[in-house]
Amino acid sequence: MEGRILDGKAMSEVILGRLDGEVKSLRRKGIVPKLVVIQVGDDPASTIYVNKKHKACLRLGIESEIKHLPEETRYEDLIDAIVKLNNDDSVHGILVQLPLPEHLSHKGVLEAVDPAKDVDGLNPYNHGKNLLGKECFQPATPRGIISLIESTKTELEGINAVVIGRSNIVGKPTAIMLLNRGCTVTVCHSKTRNLSDFTQKADLLIVAAGKPGLVKAHMVKNGAIVIDVGINRLEGGKIVGDVDFDEVRKKAAWITPVPGGVGPMTIASLMENTIRACREYA
Ligand code: NAP
Repeated sequence: MEGRILDGKAMSEVILGRLDGEVKSLRRKGIVPKLVVIQVGDDPASTIYVNKKHKACLRLGIESEIKHLPEETRYEDLIDAIVKLNNDDSVHGILVQLPLPEHLSHKGVLEAVDPAKDVDGLNPYNHGKNLLGKECFQPATPRGIISLIESTKTELEGINAVVIGRSNIVGKPTAIMLLNRGCTVTVCHSKTRNLSDFTQKADLLIVAAGKPGLVKAHMVKNGAIVIDVGINRLEGGKIVGDVDFDEVRKKAAWITPVPGGVGPMTIASLMENTIRACREYA
């Protein structure tokens, strides 16, 4: 039997439909939510993601500004730009598009974003609150992943969850959010030995490595929920995830497609966070 598709596109449409009503109601009170995305440099993948965020904002009636800074922007100038936005009352959400150019990437830029406007949930303050299981802006991709998992109505307490990937934006926060829901969590990464020893025991398998074809059917437990976060562009332009979808689907109970799984949910979660930031500010 083939696993059921966890349709992130359809689910994100439901969320965006609800948010549309919320934005209208805020606008009726004269409040216009505003998101500013800062993009440094011209990474083509980043440009695609930034434009998707912009389009989602426009669709909902959220004011959207893309602050495009040159690749060679100095650290001090980037921080100045963020501080200006922190102090601008018309701005409710600030997102620094990652990855930043090499000379900025290890400099704690995300620390500069006001935690109350940190709709990407990547400021260490929000990371810390997420770790403690407290209310906060959670990073958009992990939040989208959790919504997809919860839509299966699976009891999460006590199940074995394996997360492949330990990045600060996907793997680690997802692992923490699953731990906070009572899963027994294992985090695997590029130094993990015998990856399949772990994945074969996973009732819930989250794959966020950015390696096409990493997870094959023999690595997956029968009846598992498989969430493929990877976005990989193959030569020729086709977009695939990290999971061998056709084969793994034959064993999984649920599986996300790529595209159309986690991607749209990331955007929907960002919109949710932006509107929440606006509501809390108003
Ligand atoms: P990242 O920062 O490059 O992290 C990748 C992680 O995977 C690292 O922890 C790495 O281990 C681990 N890894 C790499 N190769 C591995 C292997 N062969 N076996 C086990 N672990 C391995 O990437 P990211 O930002 O977390 O993103 C991961 C993927 O998700 C990418 O394809 C990205 O495009 C995609 N993504 C999708 C969305 C969405 O909305 N759908 C959002 C964000 C990211 P080490 O730490 O040891 O290097």
